[in-house]
Amino acid sequence: MKNQALTLLDTVERLGHLLRAGLRQAGTTNGLQPMHLQALLYLNEANRYSNTPQALAEYLGLTKGTVSQSLLLLARRRLIARHADEKDGRLVRLALTDKGKEVLKELGVGNAWRDALQQASPARLSSATKVLKEALAILQTKSGQKTFGVCVTCRHNLHIGPRSYVCGLTKEKLSSREVSKICREHSPIEENVA
Ligand code: SF4
Repeated sequence: MKNQALTLLDTVERLGHLLRAGLRQAGTTNGLQPMHLQALLYLNEANRYSNTPQALAEYLGLTKGTVSQSLLLLARRRLIARHADEKDGRLVRLALTDKGKEVLKELGVGNAWRDALQQASPARLSSATKVLKEALAILQTKSGQKTFGVCVTCRHNLHIGPRSYVCGLTKEKLSSREVSKICREHSPIEENVA
């Protein structure tokens, strides 16, 4: 019998191929490649410490040069806006424009995935998510990559009151909406990875 871990790897790979093909197909009508859509999806989820070209390149595992080309196209198409950081003018910040948000909504990226999992119970989804996240965190740590998790699983997160949070790293307040976004500075709580 095939090793269960390898069966899971095989499944993850096949899902990856299918999802990328879905992205390719979804972007065709708008002339967008999977990487353009991945950049839009990332910026839709990234918090204020993570909305830079460098963070996007790290998240996608690509070079900054490769990512820059895609960002130029997205800016030309007015799907993203670029502006200088308020404190450090050398730093470029990126944000989805209303048009960019609209394109993501129209393409319905993720709908097929949600439909496919409709029959799975919350308990099964939760254990599948846990196993895959643990494997991802271990592989990311081994290869020196950032985890890009959310505040609730970060050791810097300070929950100081009802719906009131502070980032222990930056000492800045975080809104309840921000704590569910992904972060480049995320550092997993040891027993509760990514
Ligand atoms: S608590 Fe962690 S994940 Fe949240 S903003 Fe701070 S460093 Fe990022």
